[in-house]
Amino acid sequence: MQDPEVRAAEQLLAPAHSVLVISHVRPDGDGIGSLLAFTLLMQAAGKRVFPVLADGAPDRFGYLPGAESILHAPTEKPDLIVAVDCSDLGRLGLSEEQLGGRPDLSFDHHATNTYFAGVNIVVPAAAATAEVLYDFASAVGFRIDTAVATCLLTGLVTDTVGFRTENVTPKVLRLAATLVERGAPLAEVYDRGLNRRSIPAARFWGRGLSSLGWDDGIAWASLTEADRRAAGYVGSDDADLINLLTTLDGALVALVFVEQPGGRVKVSWRSTAGVDVARLAQAFGGGGHEPAAGAVIDGALDQVRTQVLSTTRSFLHTSLGPHA
Ligand code: 5GP
Ligand code: MN
Repeated sequence: MQDPEVRAAEQLLAPAHSVLVISHVRPDGDGIGSLLAFTLLMQAAGKRVFPVLADGAPDRFGYLPGAESILHAPTEKPDLIVAVDCSDLGRLGLSEEQLGGRPDLSFDHHATNTYFAGVNIVVPAAAATAEVLYDFASAVGFRIDTAVATCLLTGLVTDTVGFRTENVTPKVLRLAATLVERGAPLAEVYDRGLNRRSIPAARFWGRGLSSLGWDDGIAWASLTEADRRAAGYVGSDDADLINLLTTLDGALVALVFVEQPGGRVKVSWRSTAGVDVARLAQAFGGGGHEPAAGAVIDGALDQVRTQVLSTTRSFLHTSLGPHA
C-alpha cells in the first residue's frame, strides 16, 4: 500500500459527513465483510454511512453486524462514494446516475481492477479486500473492535476458501490471528461463511452435479433456471458448486455455467497454478484473479458453454502444453 494514496484517501474521508459504501453484485463474503467493516469504521468516525448492495445481502451473511442496515440503492446523495472489493464500475450493479456520482475512493485486491475511482487503493497481492482495509485502518489509526474484526475475518476466510488458496501468506495467517484476538469468532465465521448449506442449495448442487462434464483436465457443470426452480434455490449464483468442482482429482480448470434471467450466463472459472483464468474471463468481458475469475456473457446456455469450453481448452493447451 503506497503512502501517497493512503494520505489522499485520508484527505477525502476527513471532511466527509456522509459516506456511501458499495460493493459488487452477487456479493460474496469479502464484498459484504469489507462493506460492513468499512461502514462500522466510518460510523465510529462519526459519519452517516449508507452501505449499499444492488443485490442485497445473502442470508448466510445476515448475522454480520450492520447487515440489517444494507440498502439496495442510495436514499440520498452522499458527500463521498467508496467502493470495496469491486474491480470495475459495471460490477457495482448501479449506474453513475443511480449512485449519485462516480466512486471517489476504492479499496480492492483484483489484478483486473480498472482504477475507476478518484483514489484507488488496489493491492493485487492481498488475499482479500479485507486485508487491504485492515492495512489501511492500521495506517490511519482506526480502531478494530470485535464487530469490525468479525467482518474482516469473514472476508479473509471466504476469499481464501478457509486459508486454502495459494495467496495465503504468513501475513494473512497473522492477520487472522490478530482478528481472533480482537474477538472475531473464527469457528462461527468459518461455518457460516463456508460450511452451512440450505436444503435447496444441496438440491441445486445435485442437479448441477448430474450435468458434470469432464475432458482432459477440465471439469464443468451447468445450472439452468429450471434447475433453480426445481431445487427451490433463491439467488442467481451457483451456491458455491464451483468450489466442489475444484476438489476433483486431475482438474486443472473447473467451470460452472449458471443460466441467468434475460438470456445471459454467469461463468465461473477456477484453476490450478500456472493457468491465469482472469485473462480468460477478461476475454469474455469479466475479470477476477489468476486462479478464480468470472464473467456474465450474453447468449443461450448451450451456445455460451460450447464457446467458453472451446476457448478454455485452447488456452489451457497454450498455457501448459498438451497434457495427459
Ligand atoms: P465467482 O466466480 O465466484 O463469481 O468470482 C470469482 C472472481 O471473479 C471474484 O474475484 C470476482 O470478483 C470475479 N468476477 C466474477 N464475475 C465477474 C464479472 O462478471 N466481472 C468481473 N470483472 N469480475 C468477476
Ligand atoms: Mn475479494
